[in-house]
Amino acid sequence: MLIKMAANATKGQIEHVVERIRECGFQPHLSEGEERTVIGVVGKSDGRRSEVEALRAAPGVDEIIPIANPFKLASRTMRPEGSIIELGKGVTIGGTQVVVGAGPCAVESAPQIEEVAGRVAAAGAKLLRGGAFKPRSSPYSFQGLGEAGLKMMRAAADNHGLLVVSEVMDPSQIELMVRYVDVLQVGARNMQNFNLLRELGKVRKPVLLKRGIAATFEELLCSAEYVLAGGNYELILCERGIRTFETYTRNTMDISAIPIIHKLSHLPMTADPSHGTGRRDKVAPMARASVAAGADAMLIEVHHQPDKALSDGAQSLYPEQFAKLMDELRMIAPAVGREIA
Ligand code: PEP
Ligand code: MN
Repeated sequence: MLIKMAANATKGQIEHVVERIRECGFQPHLSEGEERTVIGVVGKSDGRRSEVEALRAAPGVDEIIPIANPFKLASRTMRPEGSIIELGKGVTIGGTQVVVGAGPCAVESAPQIEEVAGRVAAAGAKLLRGGAFKPRSSPYSFQGLGEAGLKMMRAAADNHGLLVVSEVMDPSQIELMVRYVDVLQVGARNMQNFNLLRELGKVRKPVLLKRGIAATFEELLCSAEYVLAGGNYELILCERGIRTFETYTRNTMDISAIPIIHKLSHLPMTADPSHGTGRRDKVAPMARASVAAGADAMLIEVHHQPDKALSDGAQSLYPEQFAKLMDELRMIAPAVGREIA
């Protein structure tokens, strides 16, 4: 359930409610909105629920809202105005600006990431993407450069004023990764790696959670709930295409995920049309559609030599194509009340 405090509730009244929630065996999660504080009450159902419900009569409490969904802290009711996540260097996701991240699928070498970083920064990207730990379908495919790759990526990003987003595959990598990256990406294959999600709940760094290849919106939001319930509210979601019967594209880019997640949740929504289509010539149209549909951020794979890329070359844009796409997105965003950061 959620406890909606009155707009003029005092600090003491809020503290009293928080204390009672704990006494009854639940965990309180505060969302201090512009207008009022909303307190999420979560925990196992063997807590003393009726006593929490009795807080309806407590001073400063406006309303108690039961939430039927299995996701509660992720629900839109928790923060009706939507969440804005600060990534650092003045970049925020979830406001009026649409933030674009771009880069290769994988970090392959220092010159490669330096070249791509320079090109995407010049075109207006704010984030440098690239995997140092790669989840590959085959164990014989390139698995990423690990820490060496993270170092190369950090250096390239710093040279061009970019932030770094990179995938974490396992809880054991978190400690290393937080030293190099600004956003920890959870890949589609790990959307339901609950141990990883639980550990990321303890981190104080933004997490970007991708939708699994066959995950429903409810499953995506339940996975988000793991991170939020751990106390990490710096969470961003991402649509990257789902598996359908269609084989022409690598995945089916579900643009409807953007408005649907915005309706169900306060969390910002990213679109990844590169993995969403798997085909270079389909990335720009789907990116344009994503901005029009209200995406808060975008992740695009870009490589200066895609024919030599160690992974996902077929869906990587040439830097010139990325620059042209950025120009197009700058024209589309104002039509839907946004601007490209
Ligand atoms: C990636 O971003 O390179 C990646 C592996 O993404 P996904 O988890 O969406 O497949
Ligand atoms: Mn990729």
